Amino acid sequence: MKRTTGLDRSTTSRWRPATQAIRGGTWRSEHGETSEALFLSSGYTYDDAATVAARFAGEEPGMTYSRLQNPTVEMLEERIALMEGAEACRAQASGMAAMTTALLCQLDQGDHVVAARAAFGSCRWLTDNLLPRWGITTTTIDSRDNAAWEAAIQPNTKVFFFETPANPTMDIVDMAFVCGLARAHGITTVVDNAFATSVLQRPLDFGADVVAYSATKMMDGQGRVLAGAVCASNQFIEEKLLPFQRNTGPNLSPFNAWVVMKGLETLDLRAHRQSENALKVGRFLESRVARMLHPGLPSHPQHDLAMRQMKACGGIFAFEVSGGRQQAHALLDALQLVDISNNIGDSRSLMTHPASTTHHSVGPEVRAEMGVTEGMLRINVGLEDPDDLIEDLDQALTAAGL
Ligand SMILES: *Cc1c(COP(=O)(O)O)cnc(C)c1O
Repeated sequence: MKRTTGLDRSTTSRWRPATQAIRGGTWRSEHGETSEALFLSSGYTYDDAATVAARFAGEEPGMTYSRLQNPTVEMLEERIALMEGAEACRAQASGMAAMTTALLCQLDQGDHVVAARAAFGSCRWLTDNLLPRWGITTTTIDSRDNAAWEAAIQPNTKVFFFETPANPTMDIVDMAFVCGLARAHGITTVVDNAFATSVLQRPLDFGADVVAYSATKMMDGQGRVLAGAVCASNQFIEEKLLPFQRNTGPNLSPFNAWVVMKGLETLDLRAHRQSENALKVGRFLESRVARMLHPGLPSHPQHDLAMRQMKACGGIFAFEVSGGRQQAHALLDALQLVDISNNIGDSRSLMTHPASTTHHSVGPEVRAEMGVTEGMLRINVGLEDPDDLIEDLDQALTAAGL
């Protein structure tokens, strides 16, 4: 196996992100295959005992066991790191494996976390239920409020953890401020960048330390596999993440890595087209619903900040209907083209009612605190013709009495 055209990383790392998405991290075997080879092997063999001893001693590069290294998975990791502008990346079995690994690999008993209160349901479960079992406490705050981040810092605060835009309220975090604040206090910032991806926003450019992904969403982009990734400095990956990952095994399967690589080739095109479509659909919906939560529209209270941080608004937004759960469910049931689905990042348009799906398990109190109302719907705008989507939404709104 050798890396693309034999060039070293100092040359390939200068390529722009759209080029990295196609070329970054490509290794080729002696067959010269055009696309990435799929190595489903769990183990490896060696010509002699000295070779395997040198690999285990870390004196020689090479594969030893697929929980530690796999060529197909490493190609994906190199590609994601190059797109993200990160020194290193390690792929994970799912987005939640990525979040759990990014937090547990660095936190100890007695540490404190400051986390955004609006978050993906399972991310809230980690900070609300899992971390306390190991004596790690969390203060959850309104992540839109810069002063709240500062006020929540304690002497034992080790990590800031947030999403921007957040699922599903579309809260935006001022990354330059919050990451700068963390740096000044020696706190590590972990950003869940599933909604935007590196194509629309690169948190490391704003001073974040760790970027964690559900690659199930925009990166795969077609609802085919579960996958995750953690990007950070070489030092963080070597010293914190790898000892945890190598011994606990939340690894991505090579097949899923191969599928995600295929998705990454079109990520730039998809993220920009889905953003354009989401703007058209958002402008149509704005006059028909009680409230829009769309970072691409001037009505979003943090529109200016969102557009300063993001190259485009992304394909996901939320809105509220005045008739609560009953009207929200009626609208879902009337859809003909848009699917009822709690997934996001797909090339198909999907809609869900967060209070009864993704945010059901956090309970009514946490939902109220996060701002997830009974009338809220979240839409993932896909790659269909936006006029077909608007016609479908138009008839579904009418059927729901809107
Ligand atoms: C989906 C999602 C996750 C979890 O990812 P999985 O791949 O489903 O495990 C975490 N954070 C955000 C923001 C998500 O949308």
